[in-house]
Amino acid sequence: MEFAKAEVKAILEKYGLRKTNCRLDVLQLLLSKKHALAHADIEEALGDRYDRVTLYRTLYTFEEKGLLHGINDSSGAAKYALCHESCDEHQHQDNHIHFSCTTCGQTYCINEVQIPKIQLPKGYKAASLQFTAQGICKNCSAASI
Ligand SMILES: [Zn+2]
Ligand SMILES: [Zn+2]
Ligand SMILES: [Zn+2]
Repeated sequence: MEFAKAEVKAILEKYGLRKTNCRLDVLQLLLSKKHALAHADIEEALGDRYDRVTLYRTLYTFEEKGLLHGINDSSGAAKYALCHESCDEHQHQDNHIHFSCTTCGQTYCINEVQIPKIQLPKGYKAASLQFTAQGICKNCSAASI
């Protein structure tokens, strides 16, 4: 799915971000994918248009502003996905589970499913909670029929 540049610009505006080319390209890329992207995926997709540091900064800024969230699946590299809930620069509220497909290797946000509430022992305060299910994703199970 191609997102119009105007739409991408409007999102940056909404989040109070300056419209640099790198931000526009990264956001457009993330909007066009249904799955989360690792830094290396983004680097590969954008070619050598931006250096590593610029990309890191862009992802960092997006995460800070509540535009995307990092996911730790079992691949070892952090992946990034757009936030669909009411995240902002003060707080992320991505309480959904993630699904990591062992066939295609992609990680998806399952926005419909909330992370179950857990009861921690006294003295423990969780700052964040990650819940990643592993198995075969919708696309891969459809392809195997
Ligand atoms: Zn978020
Ligand atoms: Zn899959
Ligand atoms: Zn997610």
